[in-house]
Amino acid sequence: MSTAEPAATPAPETLSPANPFAAPSTLPYELPPFADITLEHCREALVAGMAAQRAEVAALLADPAAPTFDNTVVALERSGALLGRAEAVFWNLSSSMSSDELRGIEREVAPLSAAHSDALRLDPALFARIDAVHAGRHEAGLDDEQLRLVERYHLDFVLAGAGLDDAGREQLRELNQRLSELSTTFGQNLVVATEAAAVLVTDAAQLDGLSPAEVEAAAGAATERGQEGFLLTLVLPSGQPAMAKLRDRELRHRLHEASLTRASAGEHDNGPIAAEMAHLRAVRARLLGFDTHADLIAADQTARTSAAVDELLGALVTPAMANARAEAEVLAELAAADGVELAAWDWAYYSERVRAERYAVDSGALRPWFELDRVLVDGVFRAAELLYGCTFTPRPDLQGYHPDVRVWEVFGADGAAVGLYLGDFFARDGKRGGAWMSSFVDQSELLGTRPVVFNCLNVTRAAAGQPTLLTMDEVTTLFHEFGHALHGLFSAVTYPRFSGTSVPRDFVEYPSQVNEMWALWPEVLSHYARHVETGEPLAQDAVDAMEAAALWGEGFATVEYLGATLLDQAWHRLTPDTEVTDAQAFEARALADAGVAFDLVPPRYRTTYFQHVFAGGYSAGYYSYIWSEVLDADTVEWFKENGGLRRENGDVFRGRLLSRGGSVDPLGAFRAVRGRDADTGPLLRRRGLTPA
Ligand SMILES: [Zn+2]
Repeated sequence: MSTAEPAATPAPETLSPANPFAAPSTLPYELPPFADITLEHCREALVAGMAAQRAEVAALLADPAAPTFDNTVVALERSGALLGRAEAVFWNLSSSMSSDELRGIEREVAPLSAAHSDALRLDPALFARIDAVHAGRHEAGLDDEQLRLVERYHLDFVLAGAGLDDAGREQLRELNQRLSELSTTFGQNLVVATEAAAVLVTDAAQLDGLSPAEVEAAAGAATERGQEGFLLTLVLPSGQPAMAKLRDRELRHRLHEASLTRASAGEHDNGPIAAEMAHLRAVRARLLGFDTHADLIAADQTARTSAAVDELLGALVTPAMANARAEAEVLAELAAADGVELAAWDWAYYSERVRAERYAVDSGALRPWFELDRVLVDGVFRAAELLYGCTFTPRPDLQGYHPDVRVWEVFGADGAAVGLYLGDFFARDGKRGGAWMSSFVDQSELLGTRPVVFNCLNVTRAAAGQPTLLTMDEVTTLFHEFGHALHGLFSAVTYPRFSGTSVPRDFVEYPSQVNEMWALWPEVLSHYARHVETGEPLAQDAVDAMEAAALWGEGFATVEYLGATLLDQAWHRLTPDTEVTDAQAFEARALADAGVAFDLVPPRYRTTYFQHVFAGGYSAGYYSYIWSEVLDADTVEWFKENGGLRRENGDVFRGRLLSRGGSVDPLGAFRAVRGRDADTGPLLRRRGLTPA
């Protein structure tokens, strides 16, 4: 929205014109004027922005004209401009520059924000207008993107329950309320039970195999809880890092049992909670017109149906199991030499020995070849230049939200301005862990905006005057996150709802995973991987060894992932008339039925600590990681079949897929690139999984 567009919006009384959010930024690409923005400005603009959007919607509803695409759907797309500006800054700062003051505002604003979106999506008058536009959509002369936008809005509202009558809405409210309570309890039980399951070791000799730093950390963990000895605390997945190192088999066994039985008995038993949640989700799905919760979730995703998810997972089970069994044979032989009959708690230990003995790779030794700036400019940017013809010009005159943030202007092959790319690479207090991409401005023709995107990493800053050296994992992460950035930068859609990475969850990781392929592409690698002191290129032997080592253990990794995924699916395929009384028996049966029951390889998460699906946003959606990877591996194969790093290939991938954001059917975009439906063969080959 521009200032020249008065619209029917009454100016929100509470927002002073001096607030930098009051009008769109006048900086290039509408980059937020970070130097002028305070957290108090954010707070005021968020509150005023919600009021302004409610006023905009009220004006839209007051329009006496019959509902049309323009006066309803487009009007909604234009609404909330002030709120959008403030949210983009505030929520990104909450991830990258959190503070007590910010968290205070977050606590104040989060419930207002939830109530605001509920008020919009459950407004019967608004839904009635959208429903009317939806009903007449095929006679309204809409183009494909417009048609898709109508359907998208309609589905959003239907999934929120806007189509229900008063009694239905009340039932939905109660279900959501109870589910939210159960989800909180699940998460809290898990925290308490995980702490309680930590394994106390009194004899230091039992820790043989751990590094001195790890032993020290275990001693510190014990002291912190006022206990004598050493405490091995648990991480979320079934496999515990210490299992790969501990020589003491009895201790490995204890750690394994502690991990797998977490939150499965006593007052913090999550079994009954998971069962009730699965049941209530089934009831809610039926209320909203779906057979099961899995079908409801799939409707909103690339997969579309739970049958499509089944087909994909089914194709992977047999080869993954065959490979896990083959790995088990190798490990059993090694264990037998120690007089040990291989059990689940021995797997990681012997697997690590195979890795060390067969594929001697010291990833730390490669760091001098991966200097941050060189990786970024001569690697990541260079690959994008060769593929897409774009160039990157530093803009030190433009300021980010923190002194560490650097800004580049991106230009296309024809010299046309594309957008801004911001890089925020170093770890610091107040920045959450991990790596991600996000945006401050999304591209949209409707609003006349061009993209301002950024990447956050958590690289440890080198000592003053020293170059920052990355691990190979960090190099891959940078290519990955930049793949998301390109998805945002190349967006060429009309409507903001479809901009850049606004695609389904089971699709969004796919373009970023594809971009990882260029990290080890010879032409790119030889350009950036130069020794920081001597300039010597990285030896091909080292690259080959890394690639070979990465393949070991894929049978195990795929089976443990599939176990968790198929468990997630089984819980969410229940119909409302089935109630599970014994969660553990249900789990055992589900794994057996899916063909992934294997004592030596437990699922990556068991029901009682499956946080993603019972206390996170991934219910019936844990499959999406591998779904994206199938598309990724098949696309990597397509690039290779067509000569790899060539402008022609980049132009196809950009034009038919990256630039389309969510404006087209995602699998249609995939087919437009690949020329056919996705095939699981390339993924199996990449993971070294040969069909049984
Ligand atoms: Zn990603």
